[in-house]
Amino acid sequence: MIIDTRTIPLAGLDLRGDVDSAGLAVSDSTMKWNSPIACALRLQVAENLLLVRGTLSCRVEYTCSRCLKKFDDTLAVGDFRAEVEFAAPFEIIDLTPYIRQDIILGLQYKPICSTDCRGLCVHCGGDLNRNPCDCKPGADDSPFSRLDGIANK
Ligand SMILES: [Zn+2]
Ligand SMILES: [Zn+2]
Repeated sequence: MIIDTRTIPLAGLDLRGDVDSAGLAVSDSTMKWNSPIACALRLQVAENLLLVRGTLSCRVEYTCSRCLKKFDDTLAVGDFRAEVEFAAPFEIIDLTPYIRQDIILGLQYKPICSTDCRGLCVHCGGDLNRNPCDCKPGADDSPFSRLDGIANK
């Protein structure tokens, strides 16, 4: 997103636009970009400083870290801010790196498809959301069975 500071009036400028997410490298195979980054920005110039505030959002496809299901989510940055210094009297400024940096910071580190996702069974690997399996937790798995053992002695 290229900004020519000459085009920004004293009162500021509202700007909407998209920033491509396709080339955005993330060293994480649990997500995929599903849309460009939609930006709604307020631009102002104060002397030789470009002040940017606004919101960013884009569609992301995550892979659930518990059950490995793919799901869509909206990644929104509600309070995007950037300050870019430039040499007087004007400059062409590319906001793309600032926008991409904040979007990447907003990514879920351990995405889950829902807060009550039950994940995969550690014994048989089955998806507990779809097919509750018959695996019984072994005595070693449950802290309660150990407590029972102590109580019965
Ligand atoms: Zn899940
Ligand atoms: Zn199981």
